[in-house]
Amino acid sequence: MELKFYNTLTKTKEIFKPLKGNEVRIYTCGPTVYKDATIGNMRAYIFMDTLRRVLKYNGYSLKHVMNITDVGHLVSDGDEGEDKMLKSAREEGKTPLEIAEIYTKRFLNDLEDLNINLPEIICKATDNISEMIEFVKGLVENGYAYETSTAIYFDVSKLDKYGILSGINLKEQKAGARVEVDKEKRNPYDFALWIKAPENHLMKWESPWGLCYPGWHIECSTMSRKYLGDEFDIHTGGVDHIPTHHENEIAQSKGLTGKNPARFWMHGEFLLIDGGKMSKSLGNVYLLRDIKEKGFLPLSYKLFCFSSSYRNKLNFTWEAMENANKSLIKLREAYQKHSNGKETIDEEIINNYENKFHEAINDDLNMPLAMSYVWEAAKEPRKSKQIAELLLKFDTVLGLKIDEEIKEEKVEVPEDVKELVEKRNQAKTNKNWEEADKLRVEIQEKGYNIKDTKQGVIIEKYKGEQ
Ligand code: AMP
Ligand code: ZN
Repeated sequence: MELKFYNTLTKTKEIFKPLKGNEVRIYTCGPTVYKDATIGNMRAYIFMDTLRRVLKYNGYSLKHVMNITDVGHLVSDGDEGEDKMLKSAREEGKTPLEIAEIYTKRFLNDLEDLNINLPEIICKATDNISEMIEFVKGLVENGYAYETSTAIYFDVSKLDKYGILSGINLKEQKAGARVEVDKEKRNPYDFALWIKAPENHLMKWESPWGLCYPGWHIECSTMSRKYLGDEFDIHTGGVDHIPTHHENEIAQSKGLTGKNPARFWMHGEFLLIDGGKMSKSLGNVYLLRDIKEKGFLPLSYKLFCFSSSYRNKLNFTWEAMENANKSLIKLREAYQKHSNGKETIDEEIINNYENKFHEAINDDLNMPLAMSYVWEAAKEPRKSKQIAELLLKFDTVLGLKIDEEIKEEKVEVPEDVKELVEKRNQAKTNKNWEEADKLRVEIQEKGYNIKDTKQGVIIEKYKGEQ
């Protein structure tokens, strides 16, 4: 069956075929491990997971690389501001290495909770410094890079065309439209490949240009080339990577190898919260942990993400989460009923469901449409093991653990906790969310957790932050 993906490079949906044989080589821009990943970040990795699973469903094998950025991502995506890792280390009173370890571990835990399959290769920027130096040396030798007193810059004017992903036209850009930090830069869009470290800078390496640290963009170009070669099949990331990070990756690869490194460039859109941006000042930066604490199954967040194409913005609300949680439970119940079913269904009907599902996922990962066929099959009135098997096959793409049993733990609840739960119910009825949240914390301090479900409030033993 034809497989099509939207390619940011050509702005069209194109038929996908691997460049070499049956193996698909993919590079995904991974996290900068300086703080907890948000549910917005997680949407990006759910997209990555779905892409992997769809390729596998189509019989391809994968060589997929994801980096961990543990140095060099400055506060802005360009060359301005402090290194995010160093800023976080300073604020938390830890070393950058400790910060990287803590947040890498938490990131991987979140991926596990969301049943996200890991790329075959996960590589850290700090383990690839010598390869980066070689890359930068190559760019200097090829005449694409120059040294200033603060950095080694890439000279964008040396390329036939800079800006092929975002379609920016350098000639039309007003000179100086960008904030200039280095007057020695030849062109406003030149970007730092390799940055000279100030004296007290914590992360720096010996290089032909003295003690330096890498720019964020060179990390990805170096690691993708090291593991996947000069040209590979798919490069993924978020839409925020298009104008700077990915333009610069393409520029670097063209400067070194003369080639655009990836045939397909795929980008996931952003998750919005209550219709707007997630931000600390609005107090709406949510983590997967918050979803779990409210008693929702983490995988229901994944199901929620399937309500929209990865290419559309998606608006998160707690009400939508509640619905997704109910839906996941319903789906698992439907699977259980079918797996105990005794009826036989015409193979043609089963094949028809399978074909429609397959067509939907092959149409640029159209998950909302694919889910509508999953529900059609799940709601089949005749209860049959054939449907249960079909749902399991679909679940190789969804990764929702459809066959997981829904277990309810019975616990003895002391009177004082019951009273607090009652007070919280009252606060919720009065829409006093602040009070309700305070009471939830009090209940947790007494060792219990509450889940709001269709059947009412369920009280469980509190297992702490998981
Ligand atoms: P970072 O760790 O900041 O480099 O981001 C990791 C990934 O999360 C990148 O692919 C971003 O594009 C993506 N991302 C960041 N914020 C959001 C959001 N609100 N919705 C979806 N993806 C996001
Ligand atoms: Zn990257």
